[in-house]
Amino acid sequence: MNRTKCEECGGKITRKTVSYDYLGENIGRYEAEVCNKCGEVVFDEEISEKIERKVKEIGLYGLGASTKVGIAGSSFVIRITKKLADFLKLEKGEDVHVYPESKKRLIVEVSK
Ligand SMILES: [Zn+2]
Repeated sequence: MNRTKCEECGGKITRKTVSYDYLGENIGRYEAEVCNKCGEVVFDEEISEKIERKVKEIGLYGLGASTKVGIAGSSFVIRITKKLADFLKLEKGEDVHVYPESKKRLIVEVSK
């Protein structure tokens, strides 16, 4: 893949090494095609696979999961996986702040 023009804005594409972050963790520096107008960054297939392997290797892959709403007394309970709790460094008894962002999105904020 060797683009010279950005598909988004028509700006000029240059190849450079960019730093890639995933979930707030730095994954490393990789060569990419970057638009000098809108800043769009595109990695080629080989680099994308390399990044995906690294993300899996450091345990940041697949943190999202489906879960069912339960009921405990008069409260509702939403369970999260151990993997996600570990990523968030949650401990039993810890206070978190829970609030809706919309009718379809719930935010759980870890305060530490
Ligand atoms: Zn662009």
